[in-house]
Amino acid sequence: MIAEFDCDLFVVGGGSGGVRAARMAAQRGAKVMLAEQGGTAMLGGTCVNVGCIPKKLYSYAAHYAEAFEESHGFGWEGAAPTLNWTTLKNNRRTEISRLNGIYANLLGGAGVEVINARAQLTGPQQVQVDGRSIRARNILVATGGTPFVPEIDGADLVVTSDAMFDLEPFPRRLLVVGAGYIACEFASIFNGLGAQVTQLYRGEQILRGFDDEVRHFVAAEMRKTGVDLRLGADVSALRRGAGGIEVTFNDGTANPTTVVVDTVLYATGRVPNVRGLGLEEVGVTLGWDGAVAVNASYQTSVPSIYAVGDVTDRIQLTPVALAEAMVVVDHLFGPPEGKPARSMDYAFIPTAVFTHPNIGTVGYSEHDAATHCGAVTVYRSEFKALKHTLSGSSERTLMKLVVQNDTDRVVGLHMVGPDAGEIVQGFAVAMRAGATKAIFDSTIGIHPTAAEEFVTMREPVKKSAGK
Ligand code: FAD
Ligand code: NDP
Repeated sequence: MIAEFDCDLFVVGGGSGGVRAARMAAQRGAKVMLAEQGGTAMLGGTCVNVGCIPKKLYSYAAHYAEAFEESHGFGWEGAAPTLNWTTLKNNRRTEISRLNGIYANLLGGAGVEVINARAQLTGPQQVQVDGRSIRARNILVATGGTPFVPEIDGADLVVTSDAMFDLEPFPRRLLVVGAGYIACEFASIFNGLGAQVTQLYRGEQILRGFDDEVRHFVAAEMRKTGVDLRLGADVSALRRGAGGIEVTFNDGTANPTTVVVDTVLYATGRVPNVRGLGLEEVGVTLGWDGAVAVNASYQTSVPSIYAVGDVTDRIQLTPVALAEAMVVVDHLFGPPEGKPARSMDYAFIPTAVFTHPNIGTVGYSEHDAATHCGAVTVYRSEFKALKHTLSGSSERTLMKLVVQNDTDRVVGLHMVGPDAGEIVQGFAVAMRAGATKAIFDSTIGIHPTAAEEFVTMREPVKKSAGK
């Protein structure tokens, strides 16, 4: 008898969401195929290849510069080492290849058939890939996003984050356009690695959407480290000159400014990767920005087609794509034995921005809390970390709690300072559990740490009426 379908689940895209869904579905006994257009070398998707992992490795590299500098105050002597950019790139490549291999093994071990080719949907239950037409009971679109660059004259002179990891030679002078996660992280990282960085942002303060105090504080800290941040700044011309790329911008001052740089990074957002996928042709509804529209089970307007991760343009974070993938697997193939089917809750998702210093945040900004939580009380602590009493660094740390008056629940927790991401992760658990300020107050600190400040803030700095 000829089987009705070639597989139970066909996954398009071998990134965070796709790999997780494919592997878990196969482990539940489903017959799974996965197509990755970049082949084994791209398994793991954006996060592993051109996102979280290489970015964090370069961020570690950048931190050494300040660590060498600061070590003198602790008695270390001698000239600081210099950066060998080629070594860093090679070591990163080796590590990423190792991770690609691990992903390939995990998929193979679970019994997933991996196809190293670009896939296209040709029907509600049909995919065209590598010259084959596959009949799939269900299809999962996990094609992620791609950098967006606005239409500008001289677009051929700029790069996106994808190219930053392998630049040759090292950009001594870097101009970054934008002020979201990517722009701020790359400005910090390349500044730390030794580039002279100018960052341009069209708005009045970087990192729109984050707590206002956090935005101002981190901007000041980034400036202290050497990033030349220009606010209210728009590029008006880009041209290649004898000494490099000449970028002219207006930043509200009387005359336009021109800087000459080696590399121009446009970090102006990412758009869903849907071009040429055949989604609309098979009846899948897309949003105005191309994002695949899904319901709470990540089912699209075509019941046999699902979508997770950046292609749905909800919250573009790897752990979110992973969690969404698990919801789809439970929905299609049932939850693990004895457990309820998972659903996704977008409340209190913690996040970090790996600027120097880092930002860690979970819950509402002070502004949004006033809208969503009614009257709130704000606690705040700003200090010089113990380490910097000897290091000579002028870096400061900010910690902030936003507490809902009616319930005493901590609804916002924000930090700018070393290892903010590591510190905030644990507090996110407490906040998901509904921890109140009284619980924070009754928790004993770990001394001497920066994190203990979160449980020792006693005096409010502000009380805001709700909106
Ligand atoms: P992706 O990981 O993008 O995977 C999609 C895959 O689909 C790709 O491999 C692509 O090649 C493939 N594909 C596309 N079309 C097709 C097709 N037609 N056929 C076959 N294959 C196809 N998130 C964090 O949580 N922490 C961070 O620190 C962090 N840092 C980041 C830094 C940068 C520079 C960037 C760009 C992103 C960062 N992110 C971070 C975001 C994170 O990488 C994404 O949210 C995550 O990768 C989304 O996973 P995904 O499965 O939706 O898509
Ligand atoms: P963001 O959406 O975070 O930021 C885009 C930036 O570009 C904003 O400052 C935006 O300004 C600006 N911008 C947009 N359009 C234009 C334009 N036409 N001209 C000038 N400036 C413009 O996108 P990113 O690319 O930084 O990152 C994409 C996503 O990837 C993030 O949202 C995040 O979810 C994820 N990510 C997560 C990381 C982490 O977890 N640490 C790290 C890196 C990425 P405005 O605010 O005024 O619109």
